[in-house]
Amino acid sequence: MNTSMKRRTLLKVILLGDSGVGKTSLMNQYVYKKFSQHYKATIGADFVTKELHIEEKLVTLQIWDTAGQERFQSLGGAFYRGADCCVLVYDVNVPRTFDTLNNWRDEFLKQADPTNVEGFPFILVGNKIDVDGGNSRVVTERQAREWCASKGNLPYFETSAKENYNVDEAFLCVADIALNNEHQQDIYFQGISETVSEVEQRGGCAC
Ligand code: GDP
Ligand code: MG
Repeated sequence: MNTSMKRRTLLKVILLGDSGVGKTSLMNQYVYKKFSQHYKATIGADFVTKELHIEEKLVTLQIWDTAGQERFQSLGGAFYRGADCCVLVYDVNVPRTFDTLNNWRDEFLKQADPTNVEGFPFILVGNKIDVDGGNSRVVTERQAREWCASKGNLPYFETSAKENYNVDEAFLCVADIALNNEHQQDIYFQGISETVSEVEQRGGCAC
């Protein structure tokens, strides 16, 4: 089977987390290299895209941001459907945004219903580490890493969308783990189709 023919390089990435943690700002910093202090509800397109090269492969990240509906937890099926990676974002200065991570993760798994629940690529981002020079921080790096460990060793990044700190690194990791996940699925589907053709060769019925 020619696996290169069916390999997608379009990766759907979704950003989840409480309102105000900086999801839109991280996306704007990563894609447009822009930051705004002024809070404005996300409007317009469902997603933005960014192309990058990974190991001589052209990868298009399709990044889905909420339009402020996360407040009501009514994001709808289209938002979650077919996601290749889910970026969970919290604000290191606001404990509630860390406490709700479990809910966001559960909601994602329920709505997106991925084939590999155990190994689905999530990544955790602790944003706004610049605020007050780090003095108003309440969630420690250790707490965050412990949470990641408890969910199957998720990658963790501490970022500042404002100062453009660690933003590229976080999204590069997103692309890496999403690609890797696709590869695993290729192997899985290849396994299925081989089983099917074996059955066909034997004359149809396996029972
Ligand atoms: P969203 O609701 O998760 O999309 O959050 P936004 O991206 O709209 O950000 C909410 C507010 O936090 C805005 O006023 C941003 O300017 C601000 N903000 C976002 N990221 C950072 C950051 O890294 N540092 C600081 N100091 N402010 C940030
Ligand atoms: Mg937003």
